[in-house]
Amino acid sequence: MKNSDLFCHETDFSDFDGDRAVQHLAEALRFETVSFVDAAKIDYTRFDALHDSLEKSFPLVFRNGKYEKIGHSLLITLPGTDGSLKPALFMAHQDVVPVIPGTEKDWLHPPFSGDVAEGFIWGRGAMDIKQMLIGILEAAEYHLQKGRPFRRAVYLAFGEDEETCSTGAKAICALLASRKVELEFVLDEGAGDVIEASDYGAPGIYICPIGIYEKGYADLKLSVKSRGGHSSNPFRGTSLGVLAKAITTVLEHPLLPHLPDCAKRTLRYLAPAIQTEPMASLVQDLDKNTDAILQWFLQHESLYHQVQTTIAPTQITPGAPAGNVMPQAMEAVINFRLAPPDTPESLLQHYRPLIDPEVKLEFVQKIPPSRPSEIDSYGFWHLKRVLEHYFAPLTFVPAQNRGATDARNYESICRCCLRFGPFLEEKDLSAEGIHGTNERISIRAYLQGIRVLLKLMEETCL
Ligand SMILES: [Zn+2]
Repeated sequence: MKNSDLFCHETDFSDFDGDRAVQHLAEALRFETVSFVDAAKIDYTRFDALHDSLEKSFPLVFRNGKYEKIGHSLLITLPGTDGSLKPALFMAHQDVVPVIPGTEKDWLHPPFSGDVAEGFIWGRGAMDIKQMLIGILEAAEYHLQKGRPFRRAVYLAFGEDEETCSTGAKAICALLASRKVELEFVLDEGAGDVIEASDYGAPGIYICPIGIYEKGYADLKLSVKSRGGHSSNPFRGTSLGVLAKAITTVLEHPLLPHLPDCAKRTLRYLAPAIQTEPMASLVQDLDKNTDAILQWFLQHESLYHQVQTTIAPTQITPGAPAGNVMPQAMEAVINFRLAPPDTPESLLQHYRPLIDPEVKLEFVQKIPPSRPSEIDSYGFWHLKRVLEHYFAPLTFVPAQNRGATDARNYESICRCCLRFGPFLEEKDLSAEGIHGTNERISIRAYLQGIRVLLKLMEETCL
């Protein structure tokens, strides 16, 4: 089944100018707003040019809203008439990842062309996540044009460096916190995979996750030294051998799995449709059968990451310069995505006693899992309802987000940070295009996503 087969109510907001929205996105894609960890490499003139273009394309938003630049991040405040309502915040990031050098010629349309062709809008950022940036602005501009006042104040927040350090989102949040702002909900990118629930034991039922929190992130560096020398005398082994054994130990001793509340909710919802054994019997009593359900999850590629801290050894350096030379100082990095209740600290406590004391362990980067948002909340239920209006055969379920987004930065001022980009592009296109080659979005998926934003804003803010 194609994702576009799920689209419903595509005639809603029939007076919305879709052609113009396509041109706005095409134009935004032409600005090479690439972010790098090394800020000296960032060309900020491209961000300035994008801002000028947005001001021209969305005059009512910029005229009615208070527009603040924090570094090169943008915060637009659209005032609400009812001060008793907590504001909503819609967000996206302006930056995109670089095009991998040498792959430029593989793009059917150049990566910063913003070409509109074959039913697609082409360019780096078309799916991550300029379509959401423009979509949010389109929704706000449309409602302002209708002259209907916003009852709830709305913030539009567009960070400049989500792909690298997230300093923009942190700065915007700090500013709002200093103003004692408390938000009703935040909507950011994330999740959006349509899943046939066959791995749950319910074939033919389609679900789609809304991210309500994010797994943690840790890069653990393992380093070990040995004297090196001629490889004909490897008495007591080499640093590479010790390191290889340490990596194997890590892989063979994963942290304990846990069934999170959001997975339990999904199972309860699916229970009447689950026919495959053993799941059909196990879901009858989730609490009693937790261990067996965990085992089932661990055996399925689409499920295991929901219940477990994943382990991915990603780097090993430098090795010896020749096959007959023993290596000296060696380092490896293992990337973990931490599922609650695991934390960087508990990870280290778990592995330190298991690994040769010769191996030094230290984090290159560590971020604990984020705080789960409230599911029984105004924001979650409204988003779910709107999504089920536009993608009727799907049920939207709360879930953990595997990747990191800027939304976690807002958890201190909001109890409902939702990660969901409503642009349901076909799976193979997203897999190929996001951070890859030939990134593009179909006009149909783009406009349907904008309808979601139009409706969500209408229902929650007008
Ligand atoms: Zn993104």
